[in-house]
Amino acid sequence: MVFDTVILSGTIVTESDVFDADIGIHNGKIVTICESGSIEVGDAKVIDASGLHLFPGLVDVHVHFNEPGRDLWEGFETGSKSLAAGGVTTFFDMPLNSNPPTTTKERFLEKQQLANEKSIIDYRLWGGLVPDNIERLEDLHKEGAIGFKAFMSECGTDDFQHADNDTLFKGMERIAELESILALHAESNEMINYLTDKAQKEKRLSIRDYCNSRPVLSELEAVERVVRYAELTGCKLHIVHVSSKRVIERIKEAKEQGIDVTAETCPHYLCLSIEEFEKIGPTAKCAPPLRERQEVEGLWNSLKKGDIDIISSDHSPSPPDLKAQESIFEVWGGIAGCQNTLHVLLTEGYHKRGVPLSKIAEVTALNPAKRFGLFPKKGSIRIGSDADLTLIQLNETFVLKAEDLKYRHKISPYIGKTFIGKTKYTLSRGQCVFEEVDEKTSV
Ligand SMILES: [Zn+2]
Repeated sequence: MVFDTVILSGTIVTESDVFDADIGIHNGKIVTICESGSIEVGDAKVIDASGLHLFPGLVDVHVHFNEPGRDLWEGFETGSKSLAAGGVTTFFDMPLNSNPPTTTKERFLEKQQLANEKSIIDYRLWGGLVPDNIERLEDLHKEGAIGFKAFMSECGTDDFQHADNDTLFKGMERIAELESILALHAESNEMINYLTDKAQKEKRLSIRDYCNSRPVLSELEAVERVVRYAELTGCKLHIVHVSSKRVIERIKEAKEQGIDVTAETCPHYLCLSIEEFEKIGPTAKCAPPLRERQEVEGLWNSLKKGDIDIISSDHSPSPPDLKAQESIFEVWGGIAGCQNTLHVLLTEGYHKRGVPLSKIAEVTALNPAKRFGLFPKKGSIRIGSDADLTLIQLNETFVLKAEDLKYRHKISPYIGKTFIGKTKYTLSRGQCVFEEVDEKTSV
């Protein structure tokens, strides 16, 4: 057999197993997985992976790269380089906060062209469901939208309208007909608008006041409502960025009732609580907000039990001035974190809480690839799959510095955090898209 690249003596992590092997890559695909030391290297490029773990390239189903229109916030080039540095080899870009948002075929094609030119890894695009585009969903679907995204509450910009109940219901009926899927930002608009107004009128403006204005109950109410709509319309659902175990359990109940729904959470809900938010400040503002410490532990328990399907970043960066508003209520609500998803999971999950490596591979690669129809091309290390891989030194410690970040703006709540588990190489369809610069500075 002829190989373009061979990866020797690594430890392979799949959703079901961890084992030592050599890997042979040809034309961007994995063509051989064999016992360490048994591969015929020939003229292939050699990557020595001794002491390293090979994970399937992550599939991040939830990023906002904001291009076109707000590429000063991020963009496909900086965004995809950040992901590659964190072991992500496929991303799905959200229909907002690009401006205009991706709610028509024309916008979709325009964004696709930009992503084609600029992204260094594979990608798919979400279409948006907004009050005036139900007639356009079919076009978006035909162009290859991975699914549709809607907001049940206001999203923070004026150009992507949230879906009222009427839009939601009719949109779900249409999306079910198209056999596509709806991703939902599930917070009750009525509850959070009321609580936000009240807090502001009463001059309760602390970080904790902000968090209390968007309670877990508002997520729960929105999820309750939408699973009923799913029951009636048959629309497949993916609930994004769930912040609480209670919501995960409600989704699990819906699954048990036969509703086709999956739950996503993000590294920040597994790593940061309100106390950290108070220390870090506006950089850690997101919506739904960070929760109490026991909620963080609750989510880890849900993950261990297999109740969380997907972990993605919800990378939602902004320029520094939008994070520097006087009131926390006015600050941009989005966390920039997509470069460190795997680092958070290895540090907080594998090292601190004993979460198996296979579980991490499952929720970051296998499950997202399966849920959105990319498996077996993506999502696992197996013969015939794309050679999308990330190589990790599992026990190497590093402190994240602003200059390590490849984002357009070097802002992240994880700056200064000590991570255990360092990315050495990332391969996208066999091509090296990230290689650690060997600084030889031992920690
Ligand atoms: Zn988002």
